[in-house]
Amino acid sequence: MLVVKVGGGEGNALEPVLDDLADLWHAGERWVLVHGGSARTNEVATALGHPPQFVTSVSGYTSRRTDRQTAIIFTMVYAGEVNKLAVEGLQARGVNAVGLSGLDGRLLEGPRKKVIRVVQNGRRMVLRDDYTGTVARVNADLLRLLLGAGYAPVVCPPAISTEHEIINVDGDRAAAAIAAALGAETLLLLTGAPGLLRQPDDPASLIPRLARAEVEAAIEQYAQGRMRLKLLAAREALDGGVRRVVIGPSAAKQPVRSALAGEGTVIATRPQ
Ligand code: ADP
Repeated sequence: MLVVKVGGGEGNALEPVLDDLADLWHAGERWVLVHGGSARTNEVATALGHPPQFVTSVSGYTSRRTDRQTAIIFTMVYAGEVNKLAVEGLQARGVNAVGLSGLDGRLLEGPRKKVIRVVQNGRRMVLRDDYTGTVARVNADLLRLLLGAGYAPVVCPPAISTEHEIINVDGDRAAAAIAAALGAETLLLLTGAPGLLRQPDDPASLIPRLARAEVEAAIEQYAQGRMRLKLLAAREALDGGVRRVVIGPSAAKQPVRSALAGEGTVIATRPQ
């Protein structure tokens, strides 16, 4: 079992991922696709007069400020537009895909953060009306039901809170939770970057292999912005029993097969 997350930020490409996944599907490989939608959400939110805002937590992680209106726009774009375009693309390639957000069948469920502590302009602030959270439970039975009946699941945030609200959760960490819940061997985090870079703007500084024990230091030393969350997701996946996580580019030829062949940054307990 394979879980593939394709990013929705700048520099990502969906089509080569769908080409590759469809070929693998027809060859008998079973996978779950998880996708993002952040760049498109920014555009639509701006067009709707509710431009995006980002906050940085006191521990240094950046996330989208998600008031209720943002949560609704987020759901429109992720579960409406981006998810259905991925399903359309897979259907056109002969794969009977089913698109689900984390709300559907409580696929991704977890606590909403009642309070988030952020740093803005150097000042600490507390936000209480934010709809973000983390995934604590995955309805793996629903995914198995679909896979067992021959459908390819295409999953995206948002998730549902334990109190039944839409919550924004990180897509990479959601993919890690899905991979762990399904007992997947491999998790691919396909993104706009070639992998984890020592210098974020220098593709030649790719770190090809990273051991589980080195992830903490890499988060501190190299990763900025949302790459930090990818490393956190990679560690969570390994701790959940996934054997190998690869961070690689989505805008590549055969991005899935290349990442499976070890191109990008391979993260494992003892990477080969
Ligand atoms: P996606 O939408 O593909 O999930 P994001 O755009 O949210 O991904 O996060 C990946 C981005 O993180 C990269 O495109 C890059 O700009 C940034 N980044 C920050 N630090 C690093 C690093 N050390 N190596 C690679 N990318 C990095």
